[in-house]
Amino acid sequence: MNNAANTMEVKNLCQYFTISDGIMSDSKAILKAVDDVSLSIRKGETFGLVGESGCGKTTLGKTMLHLIKPTSGKVIFEGKDLDDLSRQEMRRVRTRMQIVFQDPYGSLNVRMSVGAILQEPLLYHNLCTKKESEDRVKELLKMVGLRPFHAHRYPHEFSGGQRQRIAIARALTVNPGFVVCDEPVSALDMSVQSQVLNLLSDLKRDLELTYLFISHDLSVVRHVSDRIGVMYLGKIVELADERELYYNQLHPYTRALFSAMPVPKPGRKKQRTILPGDLPSPISPPKGCRFHGRCSYCMDVCKKVQPQFKDVGNDHFVACHLH
Ligand code: SF4
Repeated sequence: MNNAANTMEVKNLCQYFTISDGIMSDSKAILKAVDDVSLSIRKGETFGLVGESGCGKTTLGKTMLHLIKPTSGKVIFEGKDLDDLSRQEMRRVRTRMQIVFQDPYGSLNVRMSVGAILQEPLLYHNLCTKKESEDRVKELLKMVGLRPFHAHRYPHEFSGGQRQRIAIARALTVNPGFVVCDEPVSALDMSVQSQVLNLLSDLKRDLELTYLFISHDLSVVRHVSDRIGVMYLGKIVELADERELYYNQLHPYTRALFSAMPVPKPGRKKQRTILPGDLPSPISPPKGCRFHGRCSYCMDVCKKVQPQFKDVGNDHFVACHLH
């Protein structure tokens, strides 16, 4: 059932890729990047998605936006099932959903001036005339802390932080309601990270945006998120309000992630949990609980039966046989 308070809802979403089994082989393997994920993102919230590199976070974000069509499952955006939309309706909906990528240099066309980069989506979607688009570009640049004359410059003339501001401005050109921020500060220096995070937070408040904020860095995710989903090998293993998760981690993987977070008070130490081994391959994920090979609480049942993702109260969901 769709809830009107949700901006984005996914149900049993799967994103599988068929890949070659080897250079000399004709056989194929299935890579399960996102496997049976259900969650909803409430209007106006920042939903943080955290997990190790390669766990499927970015693929989940792109699948939500239908930048990659899901293998199965539903994506419901602002009450509309994206599978039911005509091409024309989908084009309109696309203006409501945008993405900011990790690498601002890679995501900006280096041959175009900043003004042209920002005008392009406005003109493509027929949102205004050429003259109006020039005014809108100036307004967008001011919104992200740049100056109108920057419209005449090219991406290589900016610092990393400024380029990310341009990428954010481009995402905002078409007045979206939902923005996927995919590791938006990971490529930036620490000193610039907080400026860009503050900008995203101000824009969210002023423009009433809803964010999916993807990062491998739990400190950053905690700082910006209202609720947090923890992803492991294509699945969400825990989901809760940010404070609830901080004080009451239930899944052993979440506990390990939190134990690796720096302690803000100098002199105070905490015991860090080092996970054995690497993230297993999503081509042949372990049977039962996918985390069982790295979990110090593993029981027999964990090796055979996949734990259900269930509500344990207080809007806190977890997939673990301990709960
Ligand atoms: Fe560990 Fe078992 Fe829970 Fe998986 S289900 S996290 S193996 S205790």
